Amino acid sequence: VATVALKDVTKVFPDGTVAVDNISLDVNDGEFMVLLGPSGCGKSTVLRMVAGLEQPSSGVILLDNELVNDLSPRDRRIAMVFQDFALYPHMTVGENIAFPLRLSGVEEAIRTERVADVANALGIGDVLGRKPGQLSGGQRQRVAMGRAIIRRPNLFLMDEPLSNLDSGLRAELRAEISGLVRELGVTTIYVTHDQAEALTMADRVAIMRKGVLQDVGTPTQVYGRP
Ligand code: ADP
Ligand code: ADP
Repeated sequence: VATVALKDVTKVFPDGTVAVDNISLDVNDGEFMVLLGPSGCGKSTVLRMVAGLEQPSSGVILLDNELVNDLSPRDRRIAMVFQDFALYPHMTVGENIAFPLRLSGVEEAIRTERVADVANALGIGDVLGRKPGQLSGGQRQRVAMGRAIIRRPNLFLMDEPLSNLDSGLRAELRAEISGLVRELGVTTIYVTHDQAEALTMADRVAIMRKGVLQDVGTPTQVYGRP
């Protein structure tokens, strides 16, 4: 189970920038929440605070009713994916995906099986032996997702994961990502400035402008169409 609750969360950076201005938001267990808004409106700052990478200036963030900052990174069981894939270039695809399991001491046979399962689900089962440099952009993003979900996180945080890809690939991966995430049933917060992504992927959309949450609802509720 993973629920996320932000209560009256504000983030003011040391230079005085109010990046997030008194936001409250509940994300339900298994929900795919899209945080939508233009560049600079504070989306990444929200995500980084949920991940425990940044402290709110005021307000609280709860993960399963516990303060995120009270949980050790291990207990948070949060996976993050960014737009720059940040793969290990010297490792193969299989090694990249297996890396978090190797760090947590999962034995080889189980690693291999889990990597194969995840890679097949992502459609990259046939490129496990390649290096990231030998992959397309879409394949690299799939590897990054595979590496993020291999440890079966409770919460999946994605920050503009498709924004470096061309439009055809973005459309394809939108469907894949939302399908995969729903199959896993993992609670997800997905940050984007792309309204089409929000409309096609979200259970609910949270619309941000200049640090403020403007609206939260299903795509139909906020846009009047599915
Ligand atoms: P988004 O993800 O929507 O593009 P961000 O959360 O990255 O927005 O940034 C929100 C605002 O906070 C922007 O005005 C940005 O310039 C500012 N900001 C982000 N990080 C810092 C920082 N470390 N110091 C000062 N201002 C920052
Ligand atoms: P090492 O022997 O140093 O662990 P390998 O290249 O044999 O390095 O594999 C690293 C990890 O990558 C393995 O533990 C396995 O989980 C994964 N892996 C590599 N190739 C495959 C593959 N063809 N099918 C499934 N998993 C693979």
